[in-house]
Amino acid sequence: MNSAEYDVVILGLGPAGLQAAVHAARRKTSVLLLGSIRKSSLFTAHIENYFSLFNMSGEELLERGLEQAQRFGADILEENVISIEPVGQRFRVRTEGGTHIDTWSLILATGSKRNKLGVPGEKALLGKGVSYCVDCDGLFFRGVDVCVAGNESAAVDGALTLAKTAGQVHLVCQRLEAAEPLIKELQASPVIIHENRKITEIIGEKSVTAVLLDDNTTIQVEGVFIELGAKGILELALNLGIQLDDDMKYIQTNKQQETSVPGIFAAGDICGMPWQMAKAVGEGCVAGISATMWAKKQRRKYT
Ligand SMILES: Cc1cc2nc3c(=O)[nH]c(=O)nc-3n(C[C@H](O)[C@H](O)[C@H](O)COP(=O)(O)OP(=O)(O)OC[C@H]3O[C@@H](n4cnc5c(N)ncnc54)[C@H](O)[C@@H]3O)c2cc1C
Repeated sequence: MNSAEYDVVILGLGPAGLQAAVHAARRKTSVLLLGSIRKSSLFTAHIENYFSLFNMSGEELLERGLEQAQRFGADILEENVISIEPVGQRFRVRTEGGTHIDTWSLILATGSKRNKLGVPGEKALLGKGVSYCVDCDGLFFRGVDVCVAGNESAAVDGALTLAKTAGQVHLVCQRLEAAEPLIKELQASPVIIHENRKITEIIGEKSVTAVLLDDNTTIQVEGVFIELGAKGILELALNLGIQLDDDMKYIQTNKQQETSVPGIFAAGDICGMPWQMAKAVGEGCVAGISATMWAKKQRRKYT
């Protein structure tokens, strides 16, 4: 699929996204789910504290949830989203595979993982050259050399974005796992790729001056962008102007799971603690119903 239109698009194939899809698809709206069940926090969990379940693997639950959502008519695209922008009364979602999807309403259910490198210098130099958000901080590094750490679409997209404004951009990755179109774009770009390499230390006193790799080479850079895993939803949310909580950790929602941007809803771990399946499922249910009502209203009004 290169482009498509849906009433409701859900980012996240965890319990929040899957439950939202069940409720939305049963209400006769077209629903697309994006993400991967293998990337859900639940995938490696063993559930004993959910109503009526006392010994079930997360993997099995997710597989059953996926089948259920599909039976009710939801479509699945196992790709990560790398950008979202408002276009007229709708939102346009772009995936790592280059697909554009237009939708009346969006549900953000991408969990709460913010992966860290876990190397010396990372914590001490946070905000002094170390960043987890290319879209938020990239322009502070105009004309200077920077490095991006990560294997997936978020890292490749981040490196390509930085290449437009920064000096020399380095991408340090163990194995490139981004979608083919992004890898092709990367190979045609001026980004220097250090494959099969890991950052073992971020060096600097008052601010970042270099990174040390596992083959003992150093790269002189003033910025290090850590983009491990999928595109962080907070990054996508900040770009859309969605209000976060006071600590800037979670998306703020009301009881209908509405965010501060009309038409965008959120559910699950991304909305805050406790990180529990029961909460994710409850919020997913409400978000699915709310997003469907919004989509139907907008469709009636504008088509
Ligand atoms: C080891 C472990 C044990 C646990 N044990 C329990 C337990 O016993 N009981 C309990 O209730 N809870 C438990 N949990 C917590 C529970 O797994 C989470 O609360 C729950 O999975 C949150 O659901 P979610 O749908 O919000 O996010 P997740 O399940 O984390 O799903 C996130 C989804 O978002 C997708 N995604 C991310 N970024 C993007 C993007 N850019 N584009 C598209 N998709 C994207 C991912 O592919 C994934 O499908 C455990 C968690 C772990 C890690």
